[in-house]
Amino acid sequence: MSASILDGKATALRLREQFRDQVAALAARGQRPGLAVVLVGENPASTVYVRNKVAACEAAGIYSENIVLSADTEPARIIERIEALNRDPRIHGILVQLPLPPHIDEATVLAAVAAHKDVDGFHTENVGALALGNPRFIPCTPRGVMALLASAGIALCGREAVIVGRSNIVGRPMARLLLAADATITVCHSRTRDLSFHTRRAEILVVAIGRPAMITADMVKPGAVVIDVGINRRADGSLCGDVDFASVREVASWITPVPGGVGPMTIAMLLANTIEAAQQAANQTERFLAA
Ligand code: NDP
Repeated sequence: MSASILDGKATALRLREQFRDQVAALAARGQRPGLAVVLVGENPASTVYVRNKVAACEAAGIYSENIVLSADTEPARIIERIEALNRDPRIHGILVQLPLPPHIDEATVLAAVAAHKDVDGFHTENVGALALGNPRFIPCTPRGVMALLASAGIALCGREAVIVGRSNIVGRPMARLLLAADATITVCHSRTRDLSFHTRRAEILVVAIGRPAMITADMVKPGAVVIDVGINRRADGSLCGDVDFASVREVASWITPVPGGVGPMTIAMLLANTIEAAQQAANQTERFLAA
C-alpha cells in the first residue's frame, strides 16, 4: 500500500490565506508587518530562497526589504546594518540568510539580531525560551513540520519519534517540539552507531541530514510517518530529499514529497513568525498609549 502524501504546498497555501486576514487586522491597528532579509554573497540557492521569501511576503501583504551585501563585506558592516534594522519601526522580523561566507562567524552575526525581531528563532534567548517550554519564536522548519503533522491529524502523544540530524536549525528544535508534544524522542547524528536500528523503531521519522535518498525502505518501520526535510540537488539539476521517496512510500503511512513538502511550510512559518512579531509590537504600542 502506498503512503498518503503530506502536501506541504497545499497546506502552506491554506495558511497563507489566513495570514492575509491577520495582516489586514494588523493594518486596521496601524501596524503593517515588515520583514528584512539580509543576504551576504551570491550563493545561488540562497538567492532563490530569498526571492521566494520576499515574494511570499508580498503576496501576504507583508512589507519586505531585501538587503544584499557583497561576499567580502566586513562582519562589522553586516552587524551595523542589522543594528539599523533592529531600530527600524517598519521592520518586525529580521532574517539572516545562511550560510554566510566562510570568513564570517555566523554566531556573532546572528547574535546581533534583536531577540524580539528574531523570526528565525536562532537567538540564544529564543533557543532558551523554546528549551524551557515557553517559546517566543520557533525556528521555521520544525514549526512547519509540526503544523504539517497537525494538518493531517497525526497523533504524537506517546509515540516513538526518531530525528536524524542534530543541527540548531532543524534537528534540535524539532526534538524539543516533539518532546513538548509528548512523543518519546531519539536524536541520531553522524556518530550514531547502527542508524537503521533506530530508524526502524520510529513511528514518526524526521530526516534532516543533507544526503540524497540516504533513508531507504529497509530502514523504515511499516506504517511510519516519514518527514523528509532534506533538499539536495542531483547532478541533473533536479531536487530530491534525504529519503528515497519511491521505495519508502511503499512502506510508510504518510510521507512528505521533495519538493512540495516541508519547504513551503518553512516559508509559511516565516510569515507566521513575522506576523506574530508585528502583533507583539502592536500590543506593546497599545499598552504604552493606554498607560
Ligand atoms: P546540517 O549540515 O547543519 O546538519 C546535518 C545533520 O545530519 C548533522 O547533525 C549531522 O550529524 C547529520 N548527519 C550527516 N550525515 C549523517 C549520516 N550519515 N548519518 C546520520 N546523521 C548524519 O544540515 P541542516 O540541518 O541545516 O539541513 C539538513 C537538510 O535539510 C539539508 O538538506 C538542508 O538543505 C535541508 N533543509 C531544508 C529546509 C526546508 O525548508 N525544507 C530548511 C533547512 C534545511 P553531525 O551533527 O554529527 O555532524
